[in-house]
Amino acid sequence: IERTLVLIKPDGVARNLSGSILARIESKGYSLAELKKVSATRELLEQHYEEHVGKPFYEPLLEFMLSGPVVVAIFEGHRVIEGFRSLAGITDPTTAAPGTIRGDFGRDWGLAVQQNLVHGSDSVDSAEREIKIWFGA
Ligand code: ATP
Repeated sequence: IERTLVLIKPDGVARNLSGSILARIESKGYSLAELKKVSATRELLEQHYEEHVGKPFYEPLLEFMLSGPVVVAIFEGHRVIEGFRSLAGITDPTTAAPGTIRGDFGRDWGLAVQQNLVHGSDSVDSAEREIKIWFGA
């Protein structure tokens, strides 16, 4: 069965949106397999975001992800990777479609990084890689 790693980023946790976000994913029909709230370490985030090393938003992104706890979940279901990314909406919360998590709950705060509430794996390979990073082997 397909799995995806979902992060509720520090903005979502700080704004008390974790329950609302998880409820949308469950309501769509995906099953929660694992769930925890953690304070990420820099080492963990460097692994998670290794593809973004060197980009202008890389350091602000790590600082943002270290600014408070995150909620880490594994959801399961047929085509859950694609399904969650569709639920989340596009990266920029200002223009993410209404009806999506980012479109309904987010906006641009004029900061160096997009505070866009959630992360979801973008392929089967990255899901398995990210699940190992956050939950171990
Ligand atoms: P995620 O990987 O978190 O699900 P995504 O796939 O929509 O998001 P990526 O391109 O992988 O976006 O970028 C990772 C994260 O870095 C984004 O979610 C956002 O928080 C931040 N980010 C990406 N592009 C920019 C940008 N141009 N300016 C500011 N922040 C950005």
